[in-house]
Amino acid sequence: MKKVIVLGCTGSIGASTMDIIAQFPGEFSVEALSAHSARSSEILLKYKSVYGGAKLALTGVETPPEGIDYAGTDGLLRMIEETGADIVVNGISGAAGLLPSIKSLESGKDLALANKETIVTAGDLIFALAEKMGCTILPVDSEHSALFHLLMGRDPDTVSELILTASGGPFVDMPFEEQKGVTPARALKHPNWDMGAKISIDSATLANKGLEVIEAWKLFHLPLDRISVLVHRQSLVHSLIRTKDNALYGQFSSPDMKLPIQNALFYPELRPVEAAYTDLCGPALTFEKPDRKRFPMLDLAYKSAELGGPAPIVYNGSNEIAVAAFLKEEIGFTQIGEVTDAMLNLSWPDPQNTLEGIEEVDRLSRERSLAFIGEKL
Ligand code: NDP
Ligand code: MG
Repeated sequence: MKKVIVLGCTGSIGASTMDIIAQFPGEFSVEALSAHSARSSEILLKYKSVYGGAKLALTGVETPPEGIDYAGTDGLLRMIEETGADIVVNGISGAAGLLPSIKSLESGKDLALANKETIVTAGDLIFALAEKMGCTILPVDSEHSALFHLLMGRDPDTVSELILTASGGPFVDMPFEEQKGVTPARALKHPNWDMGAKISIDSATLANKGLEVIEAWKLFHLPLDRISVLVHRQSLVHSLIRTKDNALYGQFSSPDMKLPIQNALFYPELRPVEAAYTDLCGPALTFEKPDRKRFPMLDLAYKSAELGGPAPIVYNGSNEIAVAAFLKEEIGFTQIGEVTDAMLNLSWPDPQNTLEGIEEVDRLSRERSLAFIGEKL
């Protein structure tokens, strides 16, 4: 039985992970679970009634409520350290996922990583740590899981391009001027995927694809100019690779995160995923170049990767602050890009690939973004 820890088990990724585990009785043993908000303790306790031995952590409270074993981020990190497990599924949203990723690897556990912020902010650090600890990092983001499988066993020198597909989000055809009036409720409605609030807004601004370009760049070590994005409205092709002979290879499946999560949980085995079955005689498949002018967050992601050093951390931190402000209706939809653009134009300390340096840039990017929103917007 594979021993599993599920972080963020009440979220979209976490709930899908728990569904997969329930579908395969006898294959997995749930060793520990985490969630954030006090209201989630009920769900944690419900899981505990099914998976009796599981330890429980709640990060958003200072003292553990009845039945919960660990509280706060420190508690979560202790839980990861003290719990024996083969693999940790990290479905925490935002940069809060970084320390749990590091702790998982430091304590010798493989990492099924949905939390793309870990790779965007600290990719080099965590890959070095995984190598040192002999642990495997399995990407769960659907595009990166697709690329991971497409690249498996292939000589990297034979690959000339990685193509990430993007649904285009709910405003794929909307002129920039019209985007200014978009409300959070509208932006939260994604046409193809059912996801958490932050990533749903990121899908609408294409910041999600921007983060994924950086994620792919850090994961697969191809130069940035060989990582491209195509809008593919049907979300049936999850990514493609072009080999040196100009052949294209793609991964096709119905848009359901169960496929990448299950493949990570069973890695290197493949088991049937009913929800992934795709009828190729269904809708016609289309591919278009994204309009980087209407979706500046995609452009800014490339810019931040080109700048390197602190810039991807700033891109991520400022976007998180701007998205939170948009959800609270403090700023407009198109101002998310304005915040990130302004932040990338400032100068930042070099994080020097250390955790302290990364945390400092992340903290500073949030502080300056908040100040910019307060003063300028
Ligand atoms: P959700 O918002 O649905 O869930 C987030 C989870 O993390 C919840 O369990 C939440 O607990 C917990 N959480 C929230 N804040 C904190 C914190 N500060 N510290 C610790 N735990 C916290 O997010 P998603 O499942 O949509 O996304 C999770 C990650 O996976 C993100 O990085 C996202 O980019 C990535 N991803 C998601 C995809 C999807 O389809 N949803 C696809 C590809 C990648 P609580 O419920 O108690 O608040
Ligand atoms: Mg994705």
